[in-house]
Amino acid sequence: MTLSAVPKKWQEVGYPARLEERLDDDVVRCHLSPRNCKIRPGQHGFCIVRANRDGRLVSLNYGRSVHATEETIETEAVFHYEPGARILSMGNIGCMLNCDYCHNWKTSQARYVEDKDVYYYTPEEVVDIAVRHGIKVLSWTYNDPVVWHEFVVETARLAQQAGIVNLYKSAFFISSEAIEELIPVIDIFSISIKSMDPKYYRKITKGWIEPVLEGTEQVFRAGKHVEVSTLMVTNLSDDEKTARAMASFVLDKLGPQVPTHFVRFHPDYKMTDTIRTPVERLEHARRVALDMGLQNVYLGNVYDTESTNTWCHNCGELLVTRYGLNAKAFGIDAGGHCTKCGTDANFRRIAGVPAPKVVPELPDADQLDIATFDWYGDVKALHVQVRNDSSAPDRVYCRRNRRGHERGEWGVIELQPGESYRFIAAKSTTDEHGVAVAVPKTCTSSLHQVFDRAHFPTLDADAGTLNADVTPLPLFVSPVRGKEQA
Ligand code: SF4
Repeated sequence: MTLSAVPKKWQEVGYPARLEERLDDDVVRCHLSPRNCKIRPGQHGFCIVRANRDGRLVSLNYGRSVHATEETIETEAVFHYEPGARILSMGNIGCMLNCDYCHNWKTSQARYVEDKDVYYYTPEEVVDIAVRHGIKVLSWTYNDPVVWHEFVVETARLAQQAGIVNLYKSAFFISSEAIEELIPVIDIFSISIKSMDPKYYRKITKGWIEPVLEGTEQVFRAGKHVEVSTLMVTNLSDDEKTARAMASFVLDKLGPQVPTHFVRFHPDYKMTDTIRTPVERLEHARRVALDMGLQNVYLGNVYDTESTNTWCHNCGELLVTRYGLNAKAFGIDAGGHCTKCGTDANFRRIAGVPAPKVVPELPDADQLDIATFDWYGDVKALHVQVRNDSSAPDRVYCRRNRRGHERGEWGVIELQPGESYRFIAAKSTTDEHGVAVAVPKTCTSSLHQVFDRAHFPTLDADAGTLNADVTPLPLFVSPVRGKEQA
């Protein structure tokens, strides 16, 4: 594939890539993902973000990112590693797959990425953001971290030196050699196994299943914390057969304690002529997997269910409650055991996580612009992006609005002069009807509705939507057919 005649600004600078094989006539082969693309000078690989420049393999997305975003660890289908921990999510551009339903197609399919949506970071800046905001987990996520390999490895190593845990959320279509480079620096692998059906992989994802399963076993054997999830696509992979195949794989190759997530699908990208996964099919899949012997099975993208909580598999004690993207752990000790019976509940904890800053009242309220947002339909989370345009440190405030508790405390986010910051506010209790955000008049801010987890919203809350009732997503227009896919 040839690079477009006029590369976008973010594609202009190539960074020396790892896992390069040099062939005759200045041709290179990339060994990062199992595709092993053979790339001629001036061309790029399937992912579009690795190219041949003058006979050398380069990364075109090194340090090019969507906005760094503070979220919670549950956003990444990680339920057994410091529940409720704040994470700094880093997403990039491109992907080694092209799933028909991709929930992140605006960034995973590099051809749709516009210069205005790209932010530039160095490894030092990423670590500095996490340290200043008291965040102990760096999450490599969204489109897919595989195609950001050089930036991930270099930044994760720096983060590790700063006492930060690294989380890798991926479809894991990656070579064994690349995994060996990740193992020393990544602590948590949250792996999205799209299906257990090889034909499904070829047809829907444009990849193949074998390296995904082998890679999952490879990191598990290396002693890493592993959680697996599968998107239950309506009428395609939301059946009992998929649940049984997933559970068999986890039981046979990993272990009954490995957390397994069945995730609700929403119509997106090229697959909009369908409906969200019926919740009862997800609940059935969970029951099937539990009956087969798995100890920790959860639903994803489902609120108002007890199937996101953790009970001790030995004594039945409630250990962790979760609501959407929030969690409260009260039945596990520092070593990850049930506090009632002492059974190992397969939790890992992080020592010294700072408590979030809060204030009971807004100081200098007349200097603040206050916006409120009420949850509606399936929109139960917001990204808030703020930039401190002043030359002095400043503070942004966020409060949960709950029925009968309208005067609750405010969370505090401290910003340096000139700093741009983005954070999630997700519905945390059944009686919470929305959030309020208070921003100094010297700051610029925007709100972005979040529809389901691990999705990076690229539209402002006020921008056009696919379906204003429920789905604040960018509309996919087929470049082939030139018409809306809705
Ligand atoms: S990462 Fe995969 S898709 Fe991209 S160039 Fe390398 S082998 Fe090809």
